[in-house]
Amino acid sequence: MSKKWKFSDIVKWGPGRHEPGATIPESGTAEQYETGGWRTERPIRDREKCNDCMICFFACPDSSIRVENGRLVDIDLKHCKGCGICAQVCPRDAIEMKNEIEARMEEGKKEEEKV
Ligand code: SF4
Ligand code: SF4
Repeated sequence: MSKKWKFSDIVKWGPGRHEPGATIPESGTAEQYETGGWRTERPIRDREKCNDCMICFFACPDSSIRVENGRLVDIDLKHCKGCGICAQVCPRDAIEMKNEIEARMEEGKKEEEKV
């Protein structure tokens, strides 16, 4: 029998209140968690090569390819886990998987340059 949890304060629980293993308080909560945190590689799309065929959209297991008005607009890095499937299925070689740490360092440099 499923039990409904109150978990609005889950970040304060600490080890004492978590059961061993994963805590999944109820179904359909994935959107509330930034599950991209354990990614080791991130997909980088080349806009010039991409023709919005949407193959990556249908293949992504985490619904992290964002589409608006029939065009691929973005990749949701808060939820993308870096599996690389999108890069594998892309027929135009428009997605490159990049080391996550290097990508973050480059982002940091760009932010510094703006200041
Ligand atoms: S790397 Fe995996 S999770 Fe991330 S956008 Fe591509 S297919 Fe989706
Ligand atoms: S599969 Fe490749 S070409 Fe097609 S929408 Fe995705 S990135 Fe663009």
